[in-house]
Amino acid sequence: MRHIAIVGSGPAGYYTAEACQKAFGDAVRVDVIDRLPVPYGLIRFGVAPDHQSIKAVARRYETVALSDNVRFVGNVSVGPDVSIAELMELYDAVVLATGAPADRPLEIPGSDLPGVIGSAAFVGWYNGHPEYADLAPPLDTHGAAIIGNGNVALDVARILAKAPTEFVGSDIVAHAFEALGNASIRQISVLGRRGPHQIAMTPKELGELGHLERAAPRVDPADFPSPVDDALLEPGMRKAVGHLREFAALPPSTKPVTIDFDFYAMPVAIEGDGRVERMIVERTRLTEDMRSVGTGETYSIDCGLVVSCIGYRTPPIEGVPYEHGRGRFANDEGRILPGLYCVGWARRGPTGTIGTNRPDGYAIVDAIAADTRAGGDKAGRAGLDALLDARQVDIVTFRDWQKIEAAEVARARAGSPREKFTGIAEMIAARGN
Ligand code: NAP
Repeated sequence: MRHIAIVGSGPAGYYTAEACQKAFGDAVRVDVIDRLPVPYGLIRFGVAPDHQSIKAVARRYETVALSDNVRFVGNVSVGPDVSIAELMELYDAVVLATGAPADRPLEIPGSDLPGVIGSAAFVGWYNGHPEYADLAPPLDTHGAAIIGNGNVALDVARILAKAPTEFVGSDIVAHAFEALGNASIRQISVLGRRGPHQIAMTPKELGELGHLERAAPRVDPADFPSPVDDALLEPGMRKAVGHLREFAALPPSTKPVTIDFDFYAMPVAIEGDGRVERMIVERTRLTEDMRSVGTGETYSIDCGLVVSCIGYRTPPIEGVPYEHGRGRFANDEGRILPGLYCVGWARRGPTGTIGTNRPDGYAIVDAIAADTRAGGDKAGRAGLDALLDARQVDIVTFRDWQKIEAAEVARARAGSPREKFTGIAEMIAARGN
């Protein structure tokens, strides 16, 4: 028998659990530990609420979670409830699949003003993450600025731009649905410090902006490289840039909300009296190696909300070597220390799709198979139970989660798949006795 603990129940965690089953069959016991009482991490709290088809992958994780040799151990925080050193004592291998849930800081003057929000917090708010449920972002403003040219920036722009009717079928939480329905935002600026050929957006997500009920995208045709060299781009990028070109060719819109793509635009300061009122932006140009440098020319954008979507970091865990520059655990192909591994965003940083985590999980299990042997003397789950019991930690099991999930489905508003509980106490209460 091998005893394996996976910390984090998002895609990287469950793909690793699945790989453990495939590699070791009945000769493995896997505990998937999560600090929240609910599983699936990024699927529940990161993927946009109006992208339900992406969330369907959770059913695959459910099949893994329901098998006899895999267990969900929810409501257990590694750190306060059990240390990494203790887990390493109890299990043959400990795999950190903790994702990258912290915002990369926006290091410009004024970024601490109320109304400047990182995407982890903003996305967490509309997705009902307990940590951000009380965020109350200022939506009583005409202008909103979104920093970054990745898919998260697109998610945030789309969610701010949508009419209430466009959330039918989504699981956006009630507090966000209501607040967005009452919002006064009419001008959304999406700022990229480089140009249209350097976006980190994918075609499907970009194309969606062209079909919104009350909002239209706007791109300045002058921002495209000249002469036209889109043919040199790889196919996905060519398609994405094709959407930007379509947006640039649109006639002036009569829709009430505008999504402006500001390219070659680098925020340098945020100003306001007690809350954000404007952002100062410096025009940039590209160097030969495609980096952006300031030109010295600045302009100002009126905005009462700034959402910074410039990437994420993995929060450090005491006792685990960490690479501060890259914001992830120090590792060699997923190996951190003997018996300690990492996968997914915690290993390689916040890039790639959900599916990218699958080969990651399988590769780490190959490493575990090579590094560990079956039949050791680790206590595994019995040891963890004894330790958590002594500390009076209230474990939430997968069966408990199924009851929580059923309660969320039962209280959903019409047309919505679920109404998530946003407080930990509420979640725990929903499992019943
Ligand atoms: P991302 O793809 O890495 O994009 C980050 C953006 O922030 C880049 O445009 C980057 O510009 C910019 N940036 C970084 N530092 C900056 C700074 N100091 N000032 C101004 N701009 C800055 O990150 P993400 O959007 O957070 O997405 C994370 C991952 O999740 C990606 O792999 C993404 O595709 C994925 N995701 C996918 C979906 C989907 O498929 N529907 C949805 C959401 C997220 P530079 O390029 O100039 O550095």
